[in-house]
Amino acid sequence: MRVGTVKEIKNHEYRVGLTPESARELVAHGHEVWVETGAGNGIGSSDADYVAAGAAIKPTAAEIFAACEMVVKVKEPQPVERAMLRKGQILYTYLHLAPDPEQTADLVKSGVTAIAYETVTGIDNSLPLLKPMSQVAGRMSIQAGATALEKANGGRGVLLGGVPGVLPAKVVVIGGGVVGFNAAQMAVGLGADVTILDRDPGVLERLDSHFEGRARTLYSGRAALASEVAAADLVIGAVLVPGAAAPKLVTRDMLKTMMPGAVLVDVAIDQGGCFETSKATTHADPTYVVDGIVHYCVANMPGAVARTSTYALNNVTLPHALRIADLGWKAALKANPHLAAGLNVHEGQITYEAVARDLGYDY
Ligand code: NAD
Repeated sequence: MRVGTVKEIKNHEYRVGLTPESARELVAHGHEVWVETGAGNGIGSSDADYVAAGAAIKPTAAEIFAACEMVVKVKEPQPVERAMLRKGQILYTYLHLAPDPEQTADLVKSGVTAIAYETVTGIDNSLPLLKPMSQVAGRMSIQAGATALEKANGGRGVLLGGVPGVLPAKVVVIGGGVVGFNAAQMAVGLGADVTILDRDPGVLERLDSHFEGRARTLYSGRAALASEVAAADLVIGAVLVPGAAAPKLVTRDMLKTMMPGAVLVDVAIDQGGCFETSKATTHADPTYVVDGIVHYCVANMPGAVARTSTYALNNVTLPHALRIADLGWKAALKANPHLAAGLNVHEGQITYEAVARDLGYDY
């Protein structure tokens, strides 16, 4: 199969669909790989790296969309890219169609076969192609929080780990899933005083057993949440209620109980945020202050560490890309129900029930 990847054109997107190493794997399986010139620049991979891996460099995205049977990307296709999609072509990327009727209409019109990373499943109904980005965001949330706590950035001037003779910062992580676990790991590693709140007893049990006292766990009731947030130097918002907007767990009134210069990092901002005062920010201007409390609410945190994120993403997307290229999409989806769950659009039909229902298409 001829497989292509293009330079991402969404604002501030530096990741790329295929690393040179992934291109090499596809080539080793007997496939042809076309890469738009400069596609790897954002992760520090040159055209020469791709050529050394056996790929061919093409000067424009248009050539790749016109001639490749499968296009592997990171972000949803932008309008100019959607105009180049066609029947008989496979698009393999993050799509997030439910809140995006315009993109959905364009994909339906194009006739493309679109497989969305975010709906590919794993065992236990997990979403393995989303997980690495939650791992990245969770780990990054502590770096972002530590920076925001610095005096020059509006914070209260507290070092997460303290020093001998001075107590460490108090870090409160709300939600102990993938983001929360990875945030807690980083905070514990830096020597902070860490408490994780969750509502799921099974999650609390697993965290308690993993951290063996290096992080405390607490059931996320209203009273516990209020007293923990009031005492925190840094709060990480990491909750998810699948299919719903994030619950507003920290209200504006609660900010008045916090210490001036304390920091809120709302990782759940992509689901609307779990603090009442959260509004999405960008890497160019990541923080703002409300009632003396610093807020960091960047909606695409993994974009800042494009190289790590691209490699983490390729680790989970490449095995399916190889299956699709080796077998053809029909046989690959038939052989693997987890991959089949990724099919969102095919030849003008919405093939993913929740998207069809939310946007009023026949299913
Ligand atoms: P997850 O499902 O692994 O974990 C969510 C946890 O929240 C679960 O353990 C759940 O029990 C808990 N929870 C639900 N309601 C709660 C409540 N009231 N109090 C305490 N805990 C509660 O999800 P995840 O992968 O960790 O993702 C968390 C959020 O981070 C999602 O909204 C995700 O979209 C977002 N995210 C954002 C970025 C970014 O760049 N900003 C990147 C990756 C993920």
